[in-house]
Amino acid sequence: QPVLAVVGRPNVGKSTLVNRLLGRREAVVQDTPGVTRDRVAYDALWNGRRFTVVDTGGWEPDAKGLQAAVAAQAEMAMSTADAILLVVDAQVGATATEEAVARVLRRSKRPVLVAANKVDDERAMAEAHALWSLGLGEPMPVSGLHGRGSGDLLDKILAVFPDVPHEEFGKTGGPRRVALVGKPNVGKSSLLNRLTGELRAVVDDVAGTTVDPVDSLVELDGEVWRFVDTAGLRKRVKTASGTEYYASLRTKAAIEAAEVAIVLVDASQPLTEQDLRVFTMVVEAGRALVIAYNKWDLVDEDRRHQLDKEIDRELVRVRWAERVNVSALTGRAVGKLAPTLRTALNSWDTRIPTGQLNSWLSDLVAAHPPPVRGGKQPKILFATQAHSRPPTVVLFTTGFLEAGYRRFLERKLRDTFGFVGSPVRISVRVRE
Ligand code: GDP
Repeated sequence: QPVLAVVGRPNVGKSTLVNRLLGRREAVVQDTPGVTRDRVAYDALWNGRRFTVVDTGGWEPDAKGLQAAVAAQAEMAMSTADAILLVVDAQVGATATEEAVARVLRRSKRPVLVAANKVDDERAMAEAHALWSLGLGEPMPVSGLHGRGSGDLLDKILAVFPDVPHEEFGKTGGPRRVALVGKPNVGKSSLLNRLTGELRAVVDDVAGTTVDPVDSLVELDGEVWRFVDTAGLRKRVKTASGTEYYASLRTKAAIEAAEVAIVLVDASQPLTEQDLRVFTMVVEAGRALVIAYNKWDLVDEDRRHQLDKEIDRELVRVRWAERVNVSALTGRAVGKLAPTLRTALNSWDTRIPTGQLNSWLSDLVAAHPPPVRGGKQPKILFATQAHSRPPTVVLFTTGFLEAGYRRFLERKLRDTFGFVGSPVRISVRVRE
């Protein structure tokens, strides 16, 4: 989602205006004593469009004075945000500080808007017009206190954001889409038959139904699920031409068409490369994951110990996925599949409010700063969850973050927010 950075001198009414823009969805929190939060990010929603508002904080004059501090903040905003909102106190007018920051912002490749704040009534309009002098286009008269003009300002903000295509996956509604995948002979068709047979199948072969014939609708635990691309499984077609390459293409397509994948593994046999490739496909496609160990009826004590070791060794990458031990033959534990699928999909759909994400992040980074690289300490400015399905967190930083540190962040993110059954992506936007 696009990012708006709000910049301005102290006391121009920035926080009040930011609260207005957020519609009090997320109150701006006070800084926790001892933790400096010089930048806080929040979610805003206007006309069905989400964006992140970053409050760059009060600009306290540093050693080089207020103007330098303000200019530095403007530079930061220009390099991280998609649009910048300069808040000016219209009653005071443009001071030398605003002139300095305007000089910086005029060079910006990103759109810049000027909010003429504290225009509480018509009489103050002239003061707003005076801010044309900043050379940043038409000043938008607003009153953070009374809310005057904030709707127009929000419309304008949305209008200047770049049109980023929103590629969040599948909001089509209807039954949730499941891919039942795994290498040949792990028991996919047996399991599907068991699920459709005993658990009252919603018959898709009935004339007049609109079901895509390659999918099966299955009722599990009182809910209808769409098992995608099961034509081959259902009919138990074992084609001689079913080369591994073809099978793998088909698996990939099924995973991509689904929201969650059940990766079926044969518990009676050691894990193979082919099994691991299926896991990789799910993670790379960013789909939710449930691991089902089938043929559990064949697993004895010895095999179980072996299996635990195997899982520790081979499946660390998908540690976050829940495991169900089933038997398509006896029906053991197949009833656990639906709740497990639900948990995974809930994680996959999760959206963490930006305010919550940033207070978690600033505490974590204060305690464990990113490792110094090339003599420089990269700073993490703020984070936002760009989208869900799968949850994708974007970190805005002043430098590259090592893979090890990213993995640490992911682990901590999972400790706090869970995400059981879903991959999580962390991407880093380094300010140029
Ligand atoms: P697919 O290729 O993944 O669709 O696998 P199939 O469903 O065709 O099963 C392969 C073989 O494993 C068949 O002989 C099944 O009868 C057998 N099988 C499937 N599930 C189980 C199970 O839970 N326990 C046992 N013992 N055998 C199973």
